[in-house]
Amino acid sequence: MAILGIESTAHTASVGIVSESAEVLAIASDMYRPPSGGIHPREAANHHVDHLPGLVERALEAAQLGPTDLEAIAFAQGPGLGPCLRAGATVARTLSLAWDLPLVPVNHCVAHVEIARVLSGLDDPLLLYASGGNTQVIAYGRGRYRVLGETIDIGIGNFLDKLWIALGGTFPGGPAIEAEAKLGTELLPLPYSVHGMDVAFSGMLTATLALHAKGAKRADLAYSVEVTAYSMLTEITERALAHRKHGAVVLGGGVACNERLRAMVRTMVEERGGTMFAPPRSLCVDNGAMIAWTGHLAFQSGLSVLPDASAVQPRQRTDLVATPWREARAASVGL
Ligand code: AMP
Ligand code: MG
Repeated sequence: MAILGIESTAHTASVGIVSESAEVLAIASDMYRPPSGGIHPREAANHHVDHLPGLVERALEAAQLGPTDLEAIAFAQGPGLGPCLRAGATVARTLSLAWDLPLVPVNHCVAHVEIARVLSGLDDPLLLYASGGNTQVIAYGRGRYRVLGETIDIGIGNFLDKLWIALGGTFPGGPAIEAEAKLGTELLPLPYSVHGMDVAFSGMLTATLALHAKGAKRADLAYSVEVTAYSMLTEITERALAHRKHGAVVLGGGVACNERLRAMVRTMVEERGGTMFAPPRSLCVDNGAMIAWTGHLAFQSGLSVLPDASAVQPRQRTDLVATPWREARAASVGL
């Protein structure tokens, strides 16, 4: 049997199909790109409503499967933008009813950890989750995934996107800043805002724009922003790692596609004698396959909901989500 997962927490509408042995059979995605400025939740949701039915068809076709080959329909229940989540949940409920398949809610952040866990084979890694809206260091402990550190203002990706748009570019800013940073030569001083295991980016946004107004080169700004912001993320990951028994770190989120961030975290982890794993880019960014795989784990441990009890949870907290498949595993290996 396979499982179909629907992701729609923010920009990306995605449908993934994964086998019971975690083989990714299909991913069909379409990203909402705002014509100008940042994401508008209602417009993104309209995009998802328009695209999800076709993406379901494309994914089934690519996997060469039909509804009778599926064990369940999984969907991202939260956290995310309410209208976007509701678009995905509505499609998931419809498929569950039409095909008479169980409906399995999945926490988006837990899904980033689980796909990286199964791909890496690392049993108990720490996740540096660096995406548009989220910037968190997550690890499992005492029956739950815990957020050990996070941004106290905006997500790293939103920071990069806002900055790039203010510098005259277009969304998404992260990859464009990565390309521009390669041309930079001078490291300009920017606020380095680490508070314990938390970070903040809004001061860096203001300072970078102030340097730009004074005539600093865009390439130097991009280079300095990358070095400073990714050093901050590497530092909070190291701080969290110092409290862990294992030196294993996995990456997730769109910003984890960044080569400099990957290299910095890898160097830090390897200097501590640990192991770092970054999933392929298609599974770092938001995708339906991670929702499908986590849905499979949840369903196998008895979790499913009826459609009328499947409301989305835009502010769902990672540490309030039950993960019975982890509890069983943790008990058997003494975590
Ligand atoms: P997500 O929210 O996980 O879908 O990721 C989207 C975010 O990842 C956006 O803010 C992008 O700017 C950012 N992003 C994508 N690729 C890169 C990259 N190579 N370097 C930095 N940020 C990136
Ligand atoms: Mg994400």
